[in-house]
Amino acid sequence: MTPVLLATRNDGKLVELRRILLAFEQIQLVGLADVAGYDDVAETGATFADNALLKAREGALRTGLVTVADDSGLCIEALGGMPGVLSARWSGGHGDDDANLRLVLAQLADTPDERRAAEFVCAAAVVTSDGREHVEHGRVVGTIIREPRGDGGFGYDPIFVPASETRTTAEMPAAEKDGISHRGKAFRALAPHLAALVR
Ligand code: IMP
Repeated sequence: MTPVLLATRNDGKLVELRRILLAFEQIQLVGLADVAGYDDVAETGATFADNALLKAREGALRTGLVTVADDSGLCIEALGGMPGVLSARWSGGHGDDDANLRLVLAQLADTPDERRAAEFVCAAAVVTSDGREHVEHGRVVGTIIREPRGDGGFGYDPIFVPASETRTTAEMPAAEKDGISHRGKAFRALAPHLAALVR
């Protein structure tokens, strides 16, 4: 078995990627809690791919392990693709999901229903300690509604309805959301490339 680091402190992501990698028996996925600690990398990139690569390169450098990292966010057409890489800190502070969601709703208050298109985007990167790199993207398109609905998920889930759905992603069971999500798609697309790199 070859250990592979997923450079995240989010256990949910670890569980999701482990499930996707079940068929790849040679890979043993570990999280940041399982390796010698190092400081979090500042997410200074202009794109999701830049940030995923920053985190994966740091993990590979610090641990010597093949390292996977992801970065994701919400891109709203009427806001020119923002919040984008600023999704986690759109209202100023980092990770205040409720304030971020309220700010988006206020910014879109005068935007008619037909111009409320948005997509969740995820970039997933793998980097080896000898400098080989690969990046894949996953997307889920939908619209931003006017009032939050649902208690599941996190972040902007209560205001995002995927195309051909009536529920928000906060109203969908977690496994069902994983099946259509930007992160699920990016991880599933990355899996064969990761397997090829650890062979
Ligand atoms: P991260 O890069 O995956 O940590 O996500 C950055 C930010 O994007 C989060 O703090 C959320 O605001 C937003 N985001 C990313 N993925 C999702 C999702 O699946 N649902 C809701 N919000 C998300």
